[in-house]
Amino acid sequence: MEIVCLDLEGVLVPEVWINVAEKTGIPALRATTRDIPDYNVLMRQRLKILDEHGLRIGDIQAVIAEMGPMEGARAFLDKLRETFQVVILSDTFYEFAKPLMRQLGWPTLFCHKLEVDGDGRVVNYHLRMQDQKRHSVEAFRKLNFTVFAAGDSYNDTSMLGAAHAGILFRAPDNVIREFPQFPVVREYDELAAQIEAARLRFQSVPA
Ligand SMILES: [Mg+2]
Repeated sequence: MEIVCLDLEGVLVPEVWINVAEKTGIPALRATTRDIPDYNVLMRQRLKILDEHGLRIGDIQAVIAEMGPMEGARAFLDKLRETFQVVILSDTFYEFAKPLMRQLGWPTLFCHKLEVDGDGRVVNYHLRMQDQKRHSVEAFRKLNFTVFAAGDSYNDTSMLGAAHAGILFRAPDNVIREFPQFPVVREYDELAAQIEAARLRFQSVPA
């Protein structure tokens, strides 16, 4: 029995913060862990900027709802779910992901949580745990699932490495160079083919 674990941003939906920055016209929200390596410093800065501009959770959700999933993502996911249990492992927050999950047909999502006050102000964030993608894959393996995983970035590579088969999807060149052990695909039909090939490879092998 197999589970497919998919990253969310960059695989099924666009990068949330970059789009929020563009649609709100607040370029400072474009900063990522490449600019500010300490995730906690980065998140505190983001929440401060939201506050300074008076942006409430509803405003941000409206922007995110307009983004929509990437072209072909819904069809790919629906088809994949006919054959596999699919779990999306993401470092985003449920409150941000919600408008996109609706458009993806409410797949299972493991991510993190924002703390929002009665006025809709985002006051804090709570990471459920560090490196949850890898821990999730390891836990599924302990439950005797064969696990295939796909993601696009550095924060996916421990998950890809922990899975029976890991695949890079539309990854940037530096990630592809640093992790040559993972096959690289750019289109959903190629990703589906890689997952199917992995299924055939592992179907008679006990987890
Ligand atoms: Mg990603």
